[in-house]
Amino acid sequence: MLVNNTKALADSCPALVLNADYQPLSYFPLSLWSWQDTIKAVFLDRVNIVSEYEQKVHSPTFTMALPSVVSLKRYIKPARFPAFTRFNLFLRDGFVCQYCSSREELTFDHIVPRSRGGRTTWQNVVAACSPCNLSKGSKLYSECGMRLKRLPFRPTNHDLQKCGRAFPPNYLHHSWLDYLYWDSELEP
Ligand SMILES: [Zn+2]
Repeated sequence: MLVNNTKALADSCPALVLNADYQPLSYFPLSLWSWQDTIKAVFLDRVNIVSEYEQKVHSPTFTMALPSVVSLKRYIKPARFPAFTRFNLFLRDGFVCQYCSSREELTFDHIVPRSRGGRTTWQNVVAACSPCNLSKGSKLYSECGMRLKRLPFRPTNHDLQKCGRAFPPNYLHHSWLDYLYWDSELEP
């Protein structure tokens, strides 16, 4: 479709995808579409263009500014619970060891060790630094004089969104900020 050499530039122009209520479709990972998928959705009449980049794409028959924010025309009901992933678990625990509050060498700890039948679930796994993880070994934390900052729980997407505002992705286009609310929520 492109007739000039703007493809490389365009590749760095993903669109933030909002639900029909203008909330991001997902936060973790942030719902982003490539410019190709975004333009396809525009032509299929599935999205409204909310904001645009300055970069344009050209074909023989038209020129179009790349959308930087689009919103779905039909509302999609968001999932209540997030996926059980390493990133989401760290996010729930604020990227902090749940025993000593260290931010270094983060790994995972099974509260009830796997060797004692502990399962890999939201309720039994916490973020922990390697030294705490090593010194706990296959014991219970109460057996080695350690304390948990708080009992782990299964978070809702809403819980993780609250946590996530403190950990925005590295790259945020300025036109996304109104829809992500990172800034407003970070104010004391
Ligand atoms: Zn620790």
